[in-house]
Amino acid sequence: MKFIASLGAGAAVWLSLSLNAASAQDLNVLCAVQVEWCQMMEAVFEEKTGLDVSMERRSTGEILDRVRAERAAPKIDVWWGGTGDTHLQAAGEDLLEPYQPKNFEDTLPWAQNFFLMSGGKAAGIYAGALGFGYNSDFLAEHGVAAPSCWKDLTAPRYKGLVQMPNPNSSGTAYTMLATLVQLLGEDEAFEYLAALAKNIDRFTTSGAAPVQAAARGETGIGISFIHDAVTQKLAGAPMVIVAPCEGTGYEIGAVSIVKGTRNPEAARLFVDFALSPEGQETCAASGQNQIPANAKASLPPAAPDISLIRMVDYDFATFGSPDQRRRLLDRFDKEVLQTATPVATQ
Ligand code: PLP
Repeated sequence: MKFIASLGAGAAVWLSLSLNAASAQDLNVLCAVQVEWCQMMEAVFEEKTGLDVSMERRSTGEILDRVRAERAAPKIDVWWGGTGDTHLQAAGEDLLEPYQPKNFEDTLPWAQNFFLMSGGKAAGIYAGALGFGYNSDFLAEHGVAAPSCWKDLTAPRYKGLVQMPNPNSSGTAYTMLATLVQLLGEDEAFEYLAALAKNIDRFTTSGAAPVQAAARGETGIGISFIHDAVTQKLAGAPMVIVAPCEGTGYEIGAVSIVKGTRNPEAARLFVDFALSPEGQETCAASGQNQIPANAKASLPPAAPDISLIRMVDYDFATFGSPDQRRRLLDRFDKEVLQTATPVATQ
């Protein structure tokens, strides 16, 4: 792997220091970013430290459920990636171990603020905006005009042509839910979602699945993070990326150490690496397009410029609280999922 080979002599020094600190322990990581990034991070970190890492990709809400379920005897050491408000919910339930990463001082203000908000239990590692992507060939074949706003997506012409993730499992979809509540007010947001559900042909488990389906021409429009849509476009799909006209929300992706980890030193090494410039650059090297938290890491060339997007002042403290999550998801289940005509979740 070219990226691994380019790590060079500095890595060797880091490696020997690392091995003094944590000799050949296993490390169990649940990863919520794209599977390509999960795999590259595993390979690079193993190469650098000699540690044997088990890396499994799961959606953000699924990781929260797993960490909760294992509270008495944790098997997971590190939760890497996924939307930050879900990490904050875990911090609020006392499921995470405080740790300040070595590279903290090099991180951008939004990442530092996020870390403080978590009580020092989750570190911001990347950011990105929410939106949707549509397959221009697919919409042309179906003879329907393209959408540019959230409100367009409820138009009858899109019946059965939209996919979105399920916020019970997907951090992307929970960000969408919280974004709409902040944009429209809570009651109006649920009215909007109930209307949108009439057009949804599938509520997917993972956040990237809707744009991946749109990229393959299986649906017309996929609601997702904009950087996930960029990745599909760069791979050659006829994907048009939309930052909705009313404005949108964003995520701060995070990393955290699970409380009661059996491998605390290896877990800290992983978090330090995740925030280091080399660790952050595994994002671009694996074809992903999030904005890195470390100011010394280079930006993926195709990362969306979020300063050009109309953005809500996302309230991480409110939407990262366990009570809000429970309440909003219960309401989503009753007022949106149970009334929707579709369609199996997958
Ligand atoms: N994909 C990308 C590119 C992300 O940035 C994130 C969140 O951090 C996710 C997926 C989250 O996945 P999910 O919605 O399946 O929890």
